[in-house]
Amino acid sequence: MMVPARLPVAPRPFRDELVTSWMARVAARYGAEPFELMVFLAGQAGRYAGARQIDDVVPDMGLLRLWAKACRIDPERLRRRSLASRYPGRPQGWLLTETVPVCLACFDADVAAGRDAYLRKNWRLAEQVVCPEHRTMLLDRCPACRGHLRLSLRMLNGLLRPFCRKC
Ligand SMILES: [Zn+2]
Ligand SMILES: [Zn+2]
Repeated sequence: MMVPARLPVAPRPFRDELVTSWMARVAARYGAEPFELMVFLAGQAGRYAGARQIDDVVPDMGLLRLWAKACRIDPERLRRRSLASRYPGRPQGWLLTETVPVCLACFDADVAAGRDAYLRKNWRLAEQVVCPEHRTMLLDRCPACRGHLRLSLRMLNGLLRPFCRKC
């Protein structure tokens, strides 16, 4: 993958976006998975061995700085989007770490607004079963293949759209 350590194009995080969602959007712009891009960025900074998945709850500050520098963003701005910072005092068991359920109406709203699809912070709250905005059930299974939802973002007409990894 040929990208300079400073990425020429990097979308900004949305106000209510998960850090890992923003990273997935940056990486997808380069046809990469977030982990692949992070290994690359870490390698450029000479700390390949430290590359690992970013955690939405308490992200590693060293890795956040790496992304922040590559994307010319204040690392504090990214840290404030971590779940530990957004929901201080919340027990970690009340935050979902595996499958993140999604609201399809939110994704439709992204299309209507002409922006990238992205994952909302409150989708990781264990008690959140309904989208507070659309009053529809959050889905943790793909409506087409019924498998546990694992999304990947792909570019479609210049904007990222969610796709099921399994079907
Ligand atoms: Zn919604
Ligand atoms: Zn599917």
